[in-house]
Amino acid sequence: MAGNPDCGKDNHKMHICALKADGFDKQNPDEFRALIADPQYKCQKCGAQAKNRENLCEPVKL
Ligand SMILES: [Zn+2]
Ligand SMILES: [Zn+2]
Repeated sequence: MAGNPDCGKDNHKMHICALKADGFDKQNPDEFRALIADPQYKCQKCGAQAKNRENLCEPVKL
């Protein structure tokens, strides 16, 4: 699976690392920026940061 092959979550395609692997950050820079603005959580796997834990594989509170 894109981004993080170990992540088996149903919504992995909405995770920051998968979105980046798909080029979503390039195609939809404004939407992507909204997801990572004012980050509250960090992915323990890839280090990506996001506002919502739903957008990370292994979220830990920042
Ligand atoms: Zn990740
Ligand atoms: Zn994931």
